[in-house]
Amino acid sequence: MNIPFFLETLDKMFPDAKAELDYTNPFELLIAVVLSAQTTDKAVNKVTKTLFEAYKNPYELSLATQENVESHIKTIGLYRNKAKNIIELSKQLVEKHASMVPRERSALEALPGVGRKTANVVLSNAFGVPALAVDTHVSRISVRLGLAKKNDTVLEIEKKLNRKLPRHAWLKVHHQMIFFGRYHCLAKNPKCNTCPFFNICKYENKAR
Ligand code: SF4
Repeated sequence: MNIPFFLETLDKMFPDAKAELDYTNPFELLIAVVLSAQTTDKAVNKVTKTLFEAYKNPYELSLATQENVESHIKTIGLYRNKAKNIIELSKQLVEKHASMVPRERSALEALPGVGRKTANVVLSNAFGVPALAVDTHVSRISVRLGLAKKNDTVLEIEKKLNRKLPRHAWLKVHHQMIFFGRYHCLAKNPKCNTCPFFNICKYENKAR
């Protein structure tokens, strides 16, 4: 893969790619990302609109009842578990982190419902720490374009991308790869007809 070509092409296709989750501070971003597991950003934005109005900070959410939080987020998948996680997570922010979202990966990953991907999204988007979150889109694009192998784990894909892509580009290219996966190289029926990467793509079912 010619990395400069890859980056320039994504820049042309998606110059304004950015997070599609709505948030106004690191706490809201953290909650939104936890809620986004196996759910679209659009669906999350619908529920966080009222959730963030009702609970403005970790302290308020830490005092919420399970039932009340569930009533705000019941339209998204796994809402019971997610409600439990975000209440407990808020308690831990209040008790261990002075109601702030920690900037260290280990502290983030110790919070309920927070895995490596969520930690990467928060570190890069809230605090500007270079980190590349590998979600379903990034993973699929990486394999199809030969940046990673089919059987690589998410962590192996992340490490390969970290090695191959320049650090300063991680934040932007992460959003651009998500956009490319969401709007062009879809899981089913990718738009190969108009794809600038057709000649280098390794996807066995690509077709024009
Ligand atoms: Fe995706 Fe098709 Fe482009 Fe390959 S050629 S990257 S499968 S859209």
